[in-house]
Amino acid sequence: MPAVETPIQVRTVSHWIGGKLTESTSGKSGVVWDPATGEQQASVAFASVAEVDAAVATAQAAFPAWRATALSRRAEILFRVRELFDQNRRRIAELLTSEHGKTIADALGEVARGLENVEFACGVPNLLKGGFSEQASRGVDVYQIRQPLGVVAGITPFNFPAMVPMWMFANAIACGNTFILKPSEKDPSVSLFLAELMQKAGVPDGVFNVIQGDRVAVERLLEHPDIKAVSFVGSTPIAKSISETATRNGKRVQALGGAKNHMLVLPDADIEMAADAAVSAGYGSAGERCMAISVIVAVGGVADPLIEAIQKRIAAIKVGPGANEGIEMGPLITREHRDKVAGYVTGAAAEGATAVVDGSHNPTSSNGFFMAPSLLDNVKPGMRCYDDEIFGPVLGVVRVNTYDEALKVIHANPFGNGTAIFTRDGGAARQFQFDVEVGMVGINVPIPVPMAFYSFGGWKSSLFGDLHMYGPEGIQFYTRAKVVTSRWPDPGTSKVDLGFPQAR
Ligand code: NAD
Repeated sequence: MPAVETPIQVRTVSHWIGGKLTESTSGKSGVVWDPATGEQQASVAFASVAEVDAAVATAQAAFPAWRATALSRRAEILFRVRELFDQNRRRIAELLTSEHGKTIADALGEVARGLENVEFACGVPNLLKGGFSEQASRGVDVYQIRQPLGVVAGITPFNFPAMVPMWMFANAIACGNTFILKPSEKDPSVSLFLAELMQKAGVPDGVFNVIQGDRVAVERLLEHPDIKAVSFVGSTPIAKSISETATRNGKRVQALGGAKNHMLVLPDADIEMAADAAVSAGYGSAGERCMAISVIVAVGGVADPLIEAIQKRIAAIKVGPGANEGIEMGPLITREHRDKVAGYVTGAAAEGATAVVDGSHNPTSSNGFFMAPSLLDNVKPGMRCYDDEIFGPVLGVVRVNTYDEALKVIHANPFGNGTAIFTRDGGAARQFQFDVEVGMVGINVPIPVPMAFYSFGGWKSSLFGDLHMYGPEGIQFYTRAKVVTSRWPDPGTSKVDLGFPQAR
């Protein structure tokens, strides 16, 4: 009889409800891989409907006291959250790398960009100031206040397990809401560490909760009557369906979807600078960034020298485990995703594109989910390698003759997350900023992720909902306005009048 391997006891990543780790009772779980070795490193619990309900009830119970907590006290707690996140940057980054695979330097960058949102939220006493109109009518004052919604939920993708949750929960709890995070099941552990740090910082139990899970948990959050708003970041088909379901169920929703970000390079661009930017933004985090550059639109004669410069840089990229010193590009998130991405490269020639650099192989000796960077030339709309969001280390080059032709390509694409123009011509850059139908634009900046005091969001199929995420629009999203019209007893302004009240 063949030997039967005893299953190794794996760690189970579970929920954080009411300020403590909560074992799951659903009996359902998923695998958490180590992308650098290809081995399972943990299991993640998949919440049942009853477990989601328990988390929502806990968050609902914590809401009245939290919304009544003084703004200055909420800000004080957030300053401490900021402090503890800052002190634990390295630990957060290492945990993140162990499950996601990105390099430690990249993970530290993610934590830093996430922290900006906590810093922004520390200003909540100022951010929630309303307007006041004295003597709007005779003896009457009018003012607006912004109040929290209640229990709000955040559903997040695998590619930024620290930063994207911070985009959401920092502002949400600063505004007085209580929060339920449903992180990606692919890299779930960071969420629990953040929860622990928030508790240490003084966030009251029940204000921040984590529910691990799959679509069962998400669907319950979308239909639960006590969830007032849903923030989602992930792929376009899921974003669209989340937006539709949440809206149908009467919830406020912002759902950010996928991307295909074009980098327009004009003939006058600095080729070396453009090549550096394309390589950094195309292959950083193995291309698993919603703001990654995935298409270069090369105008006129710029394509050949640019491709040559990119090729040289690709040859020097060090691929390997993200935790290792000196590594620049880690593995992809799962074997299945790796193979799918590699398929776009091996299938490119049959579509009429040219694989200038074929990185579909695993360049390491490990069994992890590695592939090398790839560069495709002569890519055209209509090819799968152009039309699909590949979400891997594959850069495509579309050749066009003019700026107008380039703009047409960008406009015909259904996504509108980010874009960039590379040029030395200020007038051309300004025209592009005026013309382009994309939510976030870089001028000689390849990944124009707005700082936390602006808001993040694409256009077209990259965002469903009216309000962008974080920054001022995040504050708007997590609060509702109430307008108060007040008059104090004053015999001079009081009389019976059955007509409709007029202001003058
Ligand atoms: P995904 O859409 O597969 O998953 C996102 C979240 O939705 C996860 O928490 C997942 O558990 C949940 N989910 C998955 N399938 C579901 C279903 N059928 N029903 C309900 N919930 C479901 O996305 P991902 O693979 O984790 O992340 C990559 C995608 O996210 C890419 O498309 C990327 O462009 C996008 N993204 C967008 C932004 C942005 O700001 N626009 C930022 C980061 C990532």
